[in-house]
Amino acid sequence: MEPNLVNGAAARFVSHAPGHWPDVTESDWKDWRWQLRNRVTRLEDLENRMTLSAGERAGVLLAKSKLAMAITPHFFNLINVNDFECPIRRQVIPRFEEGQTSAAEMADPCGEDSHMPVPGLVHRYPDRVLFLVTDRCAAYCRYCTRSRVVSGAGEQALHTDLEQAFDYLQRHKEVRDVLLSGGDALLFSDEKLEYLLSRLRAIPHIEFLRIGTRVPIFLPQRITPQFCQMLQKFHPLWMSVHVNHPRELTLEVREALERLANHGVPLGNQSVLLAGVNDTVEVMRELVHKLLICRVRPYYLYQCDLIRGSGHLRVSVSKGIQIIDSLRGKTTGYAIPQYVIDAPGGGGKVPINPEYVLYHNNEKVVIRNYEGKVFEYPEVDAQAEVVLKTIAENKSP
Ligand SMILES: *Cc1c(COP(=O)(O)O)cnc(C)c1O
Repeated sequence: MEPNLVNGAAARFVSHAPGHWPDVTESDWKDWRWQLRNRVTRLEDLENRMTLSAGERAGVLLAKSKLAMAITPHFFNLINVNDFECPIRRQVIPRFEEGQTSAAEMADPCGEDSHMPVPGLVHRYPDRVLFLVTDRCAAYCRYCTRSRVVSGAGEQALHTDLEQAFDYLQRHKEVRDVLLSGGDALLFSDEKLEYLLSRLRAIPHIEFLRIGTRVPIFLPQRITPQFCQMLQKFHPLWMSVHVNHPRELTLEVREALERLANHGVPLGNQSVLLAGVNDTVEVMRELVHKLLICRVRPYYLYQCDLIRGSGHLRVSVSKGIQIIDSLRGKTTGYAIPQYVIDAPGGGGKVPINPEYVLYHNNEKVVIRNYEGKVFEYPEVDAQAEVVLKTIAENKSP
């Protein structure tokens, strides 16, 4: 059932398959396990398909001992191999700059390790936990906030003990929201994920489940009808996907997202603000509009964490604020994500907004709108005063 997209919107979603894999059969291409088996992971896999810069070649060699390289054939086809600055390429192909660390950068920028009561469970906020169920992803983002533990190549390992985590959650009745992340939980088989979700659903005080995943983007073939039917048993279950550039929203990805939405999974998107990827108003606008067409609500836009070797991808906070400011009032409110900084050291996510309140005391608030026009709104105390005065005047003629 293809919904008819209006106003030529359909033309903005294209398929890049089979691209660099012309000999693949259609059934192999659509098989998510084939996609995983045929990921681009070695220098020669890359060099067979594209010309690398010297900096990329050095980066690929460095990645072996830091954060592994892996790119699904589906996602690799989105790279413009003739453009060294391709926004897709910058996200997944290592560069020598990853070996350069500035003084502000850290292995664990969000202080997760110090908030782990049991291995793999990050409990930082009062009522919700981040459950790191695996250290593997379908492909590896070069700016990964968890690169210290993800992919198996870095200095640390993730030692999640599922039983210990279930036990902690059972005992902690204040936890009402569990967020599955990693790594990427969608790399588990349907059976394993079903087991995990049913164990969580068996805990009466857990009301809300969500999965943070980039699989619908890296590996849309994984979102099969059977998988969606399985998920449906665990509602309310929400999903946060991760799209940074409009080109990632291909025809296959749109269909995968629609399938999830049709099975009742509310979808949000978490982008990371990245230099040369999505740091212009034009790219961000096209991204958020395409997300809405796919029935995905832009949720967060993250300032890039202070992960080691990510300086070449970082954008200034001023630029981030400017991008958000340029969207506000000029597009659908649903299309505007909340810009956040995950506070270094473990303070949690802090919203960063353009300044709309120019002046505020107990009499009034002076605000500006998206056009820069200034307005005044009386504070509630001042409003009450006016009402009292009116009543007094009516009573004493
Ligand atoms: C991001 C995050 C959450 C979820 O935060 P929301 O603002 O509710 O989306 C929960 N725990 C940790 C440790 C997180 O980093």
